[in-house]
Amino acid sequence: MVDFETFKGLGILEFTDKFSDDNKCKEYLYEKKWNNGFVCKKCSHDVALNSSALYLKQCKKCLHIESCTSGTLFHKVKFPLRKAFYILFTMSNTSKGSSSLNLSKLLLINRNTAWLFQQKIRIAMESSKNYPLNGKVVVDETYVGGKEIGHQGRGAETKQKVVIAIESTPDEDGIKRVYAMHIESASASELKKIFEAHISKSADIKTDKWSGYSPLKSVWNIQQEKSKGGENFELMNRFCMGLKGWLRGIYHHVDPAFLQKYLDEYCYRFNRSIYKETAFDKLIDRMMQSKPSPYKSFNITT
Ligand SMILES: [Zn+2]
Repeated sequence: MVDFETFKGLGILEFTDKFSDDNKCKEYLYEKKWNNGFVCKKCSHDVALNSSALYLKQCKKCLHIESCTSGTLFHKVKFPLRKAFYILFTMSNTSKGSSSLNLSKLLLINRNTAWLFQQKIRIAMESSKNYPLNGKVVVDETYVGGKEIGHQGRGAETKQKVVIAIESTPDEDGIKRVYAMHIESASASELKKIFEAHISKSADIKTDKWSGYSPLKSVWNIQQEKSKGGENFELMNRFCMGLKGWLRGIYHHVDPAFLQKYLDEYCYRFNRSIYKETAFDKLIDRMMQSKPSPYKSFNITT
């Protein structure tokens, strides 16, 4: 590693000082991408003609030119990188993130542009599934979204089912890590998805008495307890209230087609809330390591 300082900090002023123009953002991405060496994407040759002033490298053998953003989630971002960095900062370093409407007003960009870039960030926030929950784990389902009782009109919004898995701290007083998954129903086959993706087979799991969990006992160690007015599922209830409050407060309405992305965002931040100092830098790493995602892949017609 050569002399390269990652951004560590919590303050917006430190942040805007460090990334005061687009070139400083490109410089950061350039270092992130090639600080550990160069390998040509086309021919795997490892010597490049340096063009650090232009924030790109050219392979010495096949002359292929690569920019610091190509092959990453920054590919073809259609507005100044400084604004993209600001969106990353709000989504990593604040406790609640920000809506696309709010970002569009703050940064003077089109709301859809802000929303689409946020969707890319949410891709970077998806779990790697490499570190399944272990130890004491609680699993339960809840509903989010939809019209509240008493609201007028009959919109197309319906409540969506979400299954949540929480690993508690050893004293069972707090939440260590959590994952949430949008599911079609509370059938065993739907519930199984979160177990397969996020829960270790050696975990000590608690659920309520719902029959959908019974078939999973052949693989996972599940104890089923009758819920005593939620008292014995207190961490779960606390987490669900926080999640629902966030969805209502920041997004008001969540299209079911994108609900999983919002759940990924919420859990990503929740699971890293004790590592705030490096949150921005780590999210940049993930943006650099994820494959580009063309806007058309979001399948929207706006
Ligand atoms: Zn090459």
